[in-house]
Amino acid sequence: MFSLTKLPRPFLDRGEGIYFYDETGKRYIDGSSGAMVSNIGHSNPRVLAKMKAQMDRSTFGYRLHFRTHASEDLATKIAEMMPEGLDRVFFVSGGSEAVESCIKLARQYALAKGEDSRWKVISRFPSYHGSTLGTLALTGYDPLARPFDPMLRDMPKIAAPRTYLDRDNLTEEERGLKYAELLRDKILEEGPETVAAFIMEPVGGASTGALVAPDSYFKRIREICDEFGILLIFDEVMTGAGRTGKFVASEHYGVIPDIVSMSKGLAAGYAPLGAMVAKGEIVEAVEAHGGFLHGYTYSGNPLACAAGLAVLEEMQEQGIIENAAKMGDLLKARLTALMERYHFIGDVRGKGLLLAFEFVSDRDTMRPLPKEWNAYLELVELAYERGLIIYSRRTRGGSEGDHFLVCPPLIITAKQIDELMAILTEALDAFAA
Ligand code: PMP
Repeated sequence: MFSLTKLPRPFLDRGEGIYFYDETGKRYIDGSSGAMVSNIGHSNPRVLAKMKAQMDRSTFGYRLHFRTHASEDLATKIAEMMPEGLDRVFFVSGGSEAVESCIKLARQYALAKGEDSRWKVISRFPSYHGSTLGTLALTGYDPLARPFDPMLRDMPKIAAPRTYLDRDNLTEEERGLKYAELLRDKILEEGPETVAAFIMEPVGGASTGALVAPDSYFKRIREICDEFGILLIFDEVMTGAGRTGKFVASEHYGVIPDIVSMSKGLAAGYAPLGAMVAKGEIVEAVEAHGGFLHGYTYSGNPLACAAGLAVLEEMQEQGIIENAAKMGDLLKARLTALMERYHFIGDVRGKGLLLAFEFVSDRDTMRPLPKEWNAYLELVELAYERGLIIYSRRTRGGSEGDHFLVCPPLIITAKQIDELMAILTEALDAFAA
């Protein structure tokens, strides 16, 4: 297989709950749910049985030839779990496809309203929205985006609130408003008549290390989008499906976006699945104007949808989202306590079980550790050797900095958090030695 990593890794044998086992029988705590995917844990027998039942009937039916109960039931379930008004669902096979779908829907909506000049989608840095050329044009993460310059057409970007780095006398609320005004400034600079949408991760993902914006940011962003008739897109590929302790992260902020992308936790690693969820009025306008010019061969695949439905049923029946909120608070407190012991941990942040800590050489200035240390790789290896998987990146969006995501499956128990913390502490001790 085309080499995806330079690191030697063992062959995976099986997954069970929050654990993985390699072929030698060694056990690992999946402390990052893969790439923040496996929200309900591995090899859940109830989910596998429901998938098997679907498999026995059909694994494929092209969406233009048949409706399927799997996709319609899943769409109904998602609409039920979503905030008010977000009730039109379009299925895809992953996160990048979900974000592409949001961009194309926003642009077709502008066309449907006769606003042909609105083609831009403003995004933020740091941010990650996917690996296709369309989503990369929105991604504010230079190491992945710049090698593909010139982009098909790069999109305008504004800075996301990285308030933990700010050394000013503002309150959190004032900082949130200050960063939101960057959107207004950018819209005016670009010309409001050229902007179709603004896209953001409600809690930052892999490129940012679980950045959380002040509450005041969200309300103001919504107001600014409304002022200029610009659609608000939340990329909930990572945050959606319970990861932050709510079904979607927008629920924390009392703000309803116009379009949402989801993937990762939706089928939680049981199948490749993503979804775009939009307000009815947007979809209806596009449908009345020739229909949505978009779709993939595997859109609405019945097996993937059966997996997604089984995952969401499991979440509801087992109270998994509530557990994510509770265990998230516990794990965050335990990670924060590490700051007393390790002076090089400069920040602990996140929501629910989308948590991260960041290394610094000095907490006053929040200067990162020297680049040559490759701390982000070293700690991950020290933890891996000891049977804990965490996820790291050397970036704080354009600037350097080592951050680590700790995002176990949402089914984790308090006892398993003890286990995770014991291994993490051993790895940090070895790093500090
Ligand atoms: N958006 C966000 C917020 C993500 O975190 C990711 C994946 N890390 C994507 C989009 C792209 O998803 P995929 O890798 O499934 O294409």
